Amino acid sequence: MFLEKDGIPYVSSGGLAHSGPLVHGFLGRKGITLKPLALCRTRDVSNEIHASYKRLAEVFGLQPRGPVTVNQVHGSSVFIVEEKGAGGPHPVEADSIVTGLPGVSLGVLTADCLPIVLFDPIKKAAGIVHAGWRGTLEKVASKTVEVLRERFGSNPPDLVSALGPSIGPCCYEVDGTVAGEFERAFGGRHKLKDLKSLKGRRLDIKEANVEQLVTSGLLRENISDEGLCTSCRNELFFSYRKEGQRAGRQISFIMIKE
Ligand SMILES: [Zn+2]
Repeated sequence: MFLEKDGIPYVSSGGLAHSGPLVHGFLGRKGITLKPLALCRTRDVSNEIHASYKRLAEVFGLQPRGPVTVNQVHGSSVFIVEEKGAGGPHPVEADSIVTGLPGVSLGVLTADCLPIVLFDPIKKAAGIVHAGWRGTLEKVASKTVEVLRERFGSNPPDLVSALGPSIGPCCYEVDGTVAGEFERAFGGRHKLKDLKSLKGRRLDIKEANVEQLVTSGLLRENISDEGLCTSCRNELFFSYRKEGQRAGRQISFIMIKE
């Protein structure tokens, strides 16, 4: 559902919101705009980014430096946050973040890639994932569930998950190489849809990740999807495919309340 707080529009998953003491949101292009810190070489831009994290923190009641984010590299490494005072961008290269600490929010930046949030209401652990086609092939979502199991004793059927806005199968045309890799990894099936009007094939990155989570033991009914395509709804969300290099990034976050 679409909500707004102090002039910041965001998308919230009803299922996740009612699953326990947590706060989460999938922001769009309005209110707070971010770029990966790694791309920001000037002090001015860096200051602007830290101001954005601070505002996000104030509006949503997060830790003062804002969500812990990482240097996203389209891989499958999971960063475990164990430091109580953690916040803001970390230089570590990862595409998934988990924590068992209340009061420590976690965030990912996206513009077409899929943000996934995970919450264990029993063990009180949370995770957030950045999954593009490379990360999906590397099974970053499954690896996150594995870390939640090993580290926090999570039982996958207890986990509640929500998928945020990403490019949908309506718009995500991929070339034969990527299509071939998905066919090898997932057997094709419904993740790839033929698109007769175009030469390529379309990838359903959300379905590929839902299947991955279900294979990891999550219950399909515990996974919600607001069904938003960043390219179709470009007025609300940044889309790298639609806007190219100049696309900003939207942030998604999750925090277990203290
Ligand atoms: Zn679309």
